[in-house]
Amino acid sequence: MMNSLHNLFDSLKEFDAGQGGKGRFYSLPALEKAGVGAISRLPVSIRLVLESVLRNCDGKKVSEANVRELARWQPNAARTGEIPFIVARIVLQDFTGVPLLVDLAAMRSAMVKLGRNPKLIEPLVPVDLVVDHSVQVDFAGTADALERNLAMEFQRNRERYQFLKWGMQAFDTFKVVPPGIGIVHQVNLEYLAQGVLRQPAGPDGRSLFYPDTLVGTDSHTTMINGLGIVGWGVGGIEAEAGMLGQPVYFLTPDVVGVHLTGALQEGVTATDLALTVTEMLRKAKVVGKFVEFYGPGAAALAVVDRATIANMAPEYGATMGFFPIDEECVEYLRNTGRSEEHCKVYENYFRAQGLFGIPKKGDIAYSTDLELDLAGVRPSVAGPKRPQDRIELGNLKEEFIKALGRPAAENGFGKTADELGRVFPVLEGGSAGAGGGSQEPVSPRRSREQNTNPLTELEMANNRPTPDWAAAAIASPGGQLHHGDVLIAAITSCTNTSNPSVMLAAGLLARKAVEKGLKPNPMVKSSLAPGSRVVSDYLNKTGLQPWLDQLGFNLVGYGCTTCIGNSGPLAAPVEETVTRNDVIAAAVLSGNRNFEARIHQNIKANFLMSPPLVVAFALAGRVTIDLTTEPIGRGTGGRDVWLKDIWPGQAEVRDAMRAALKPEVFRRLYRDFAAQNPKWNDIPASAGQVYQWDEHSTYIQQPPFFENFSLQPGHIAEIKAARPLGIFGDSVTTDHISPAGSIKKASPAGNYLIEHGVNFVDFNSYGSRRGNDRVMTRGTFANVRIKNLMTPGVEGGVTAFQPGGETMSIFDAAMKYAAQRTPLIVLAGTEYGTGSSRDWAAKGTRLLGVRVVVAQSFERIHRSNLVGMGVLPLQFKEGVSAQTLKLDGTETYDVLGLSDQLKPRQDLTLRITRAGGRVESIPVACRIDTPIEIDYYQHGGILPYVLRQLAGQPPKGLE
Ligand code: SF4
Repeated sequence: MMNSLHNLFDSLKEFDAGQGGKGRFYSLPALEKAGVGAISRLPVSIRLVLESVLRNCDGKKVSEANVRELARWQPNAARTGEIPFIVARIVLQDFTGVPLLVDLAAMRSAMVKLGRNPKLIEPLVPVDLVVDHSVQVDFAGTADALERNLAMEFQRNRERYQFLKWGMQAFDTFKVVPPGIGIVHQVNLEYLAQGVLRQPAGPDGRSLFYPDTLVGTDSHTTMINGLGIVGWGVGGIEAEAGMLGQPVYFLTPDVVGVHLTGALQEGVTATDLALTVTEMLRKAKVVGKFVEFYGPGAAALAVVDRATIANMAPEYGATMGFFPIDEECVEYLRNTGRSEEHCKVYENYFRAQGLFGIPKKGDIAYSTDLELDLAGVRPSVAGPKRPQDRIELGNLKEEFIKALGRPAAENGFGKTADELGRVFPVLEGGSAGAGGGSQEPVSPRRSREQNTNPLTELEMANNRPTPDWAAAAIASPGGQLHHGDVLIAAITSCTNTSNPSVMLAAGLLARKAVEKGLKPNPMVKSSLAPGSRVVSDYLNKTGLQPWLDQLGFNLVGYGCTTCIGNSGPLAAPVEETVTRNDVIAAAVLSGNRNFEARIHQNIKANFLMSPPLVVAFALAGRVTIDLTTEPIGRGTGGRDVWLKDIWPGQAEVRDAMRAALKPEVFRRLYRDFAAQNPKWNDIPASAGQVYQWDEHSTYIQQPPFFENFSLQPGHIAEIKAARPLGIFGDSVTTDHISPAGSIKKASPAGNYLIEHGVNFVDFNSYGSRRGNDRVMTRGTFANVRIKNLMTPGVEGGVTAFQPGGETMSIFDAAMKYAAQRTPLIVLAGTEYGTGSSRDWAAKGTRLLGVRVVVAQSFERIHRSNLVGMGVLPLQFKEGVSAQTLKLDGTETYDVLGLSDQLKPRQDLTLRITRAGGRVESIPVACRIDTPIEIDYYQHGGILPYVLRQLAGQPPKGLE
């Protein structure tokens, strides 16, 4: 392998790899010396990508021209060139990873059908899948919540976990971090990431070293940018291509420099900073750009604080929020248990590359330069619906009240001012009834006793049993709800749980609160779900966990939980009161996303905040409070307790951190996972290179992507007489398109599951059913909150079947259109496909028969996923929309100008034929952005493209 190393531009050099040895590397300083470009003036993130382009230059996938073009990156230039980026590794979480493994298994089956060796399908770069998305907060507020949630998780997901175990033995480079260990990005930061990687030594004993780079099938893969590692979230489809040796292609980006100065003041957390950065960069319009933080303020931030900011790159819209490499990174690697030898190689490598140290003002020419003085950051929260809507802590009450009265179209809740003071009694019986409880009460407890089914209707509606903690709320005499009451308080999400400073601050605040005599609010469902077991280790060592327990923040699991919407049910009477009266209840969480229905389907106001503030608001029990001027509550002796009385100082947090973080803990907790997880060991695994599909499985099915597959691609042709399946407004998220949460009983997916013998209580979530295309296709556009403008006033996945306008589910309509061979079109507003990277949002669209999506603008990953599935993304011209065109869904559509000569971003014609026969043609931009995407589109998507490529190649080490 080492013999095949090229020496383009005389760039293959040696450096001191420690312990008296030399290592090889592709030298960026040598590239500059060769006159290829002013490389030392390039942003660090661009230089790291350039290293990959240089090292992987083989004249086929990556050409010398690619190296030259990127080496001459200009801060401000037309961005037309695509960069072929071959990453060093891939990370997956289970929601996206299982379907990806299903696709790999399907490709192997397709290879067998083609008469080829199935081993041709094999990940060419290491793949790590962390099972973190499946744990739900069914139980909370008790000492055994962790155990019981884990048991439920294994019970629900056994089939998926069996399938993952098959994958582990079938593919050489596919590893799984089992459930109950941590959250993918925190595990990546604390364990998987190496910073610098090495190829095995050649005959001369010298290894080749290169930077750790990755893509992951989760938007928040960017968290790793906090450790100076280039990586971002891609759709499962692109990740598949990446693991099969294809470059990840992306348009040459602008790089926005953010010059950080000053330091955070007392009382301000890294979360406050992340929310401030999110607000600032959203306004700066950094979508599709790299962001690079630099300057003395960046240099002074710990890696964990950098990681919190980097994590939220999807929320500010950037491809990455990158921090360069420096001593802090070496320290972080050392403190998290990486070997001394490795730390040395890491430092030496980046010094040799001229990439060690945070740049200063003027060192680098950025496309745009922004300034942020950390001293100006204030305690903040963000919400109620969008992460970029930052609110200073003292303004939350006022902002919530304003939002309550604003129309829904303006991010409000459409209530009137006099509703603020309304009281909604939570009856013991749980039937509060519209308008305050006039309907006949039905006690959930009584109905359970009378019913042989142990679950109430509400529990069933949530697919979950009511857990023990709910008893407190149910029994709470005279319980009342108001708009703005906090019903969920969750210390959740890798964004913050990876940061010991805010986690310890939460523990310290809990201790002080209990000492002052504050009591937990029984209406609030509190939970603590760290992203790794290291957190529990330090919360226990510092003696802080018991204080959190006393406030209901017992450990519920190591996984995404509330952050991904796995928040579990509320107490049945509470939830019934909320839904019947449309109470605008609140969730407070230390997460990064708060779109409607993301956190819990019946909680509409969701506020992001630091873990200590989550504890504070759980105690206050409402967001209609100004914690800077009003007491949190009454403590011992009825005395008022204020936030400032219990807020931990920076010095206290620092002391706790010193006592807490030890490298040996990371080493102990990050080894031999299987031995630490008996439930995982108990799962049986099937063997063999090709998966034996079980037609009775409701979790894993062979997808139809390779049905009638031929080795020759078809031609690109015009689309004629398409019917609209949906017309949507702005900011339709991938969760609207392909929800991850619970499956409604009365829905196409629900009907399918019932027909296949699955009890309602075992439905599990859409996220966990992504290995079954039948469920997922039926669940596409099935989010209960999606609003199809073709059926005004109706929420959920319905449409008007044309001609005639009969209202029916989107799935049923799609199947009727398919039977008529009618192609389908979707029309949408701005930011179509925003939110988490979700390949099923594109796969489901394709499998419903949608051939083209026309939007005012697209989110980056979703656009590329649509192309990756062979769906054509088109963009309206500025100022044009479905509304300005007065489209109502009764039209038919032709896309003209499509042919094999299609060029990236070329203009096409959308011909609209109205119901009355009037014809109108408008220009639209083809959002196939790069030449390789034209190939993908022509082949019907990335998977057929890669399969055709690989079917013609010998597998590594086999033929
Ligand atoms: S905790 Fe939240 S941000 Fe982190 S991986 Fe899970 S869902 Fe994504």
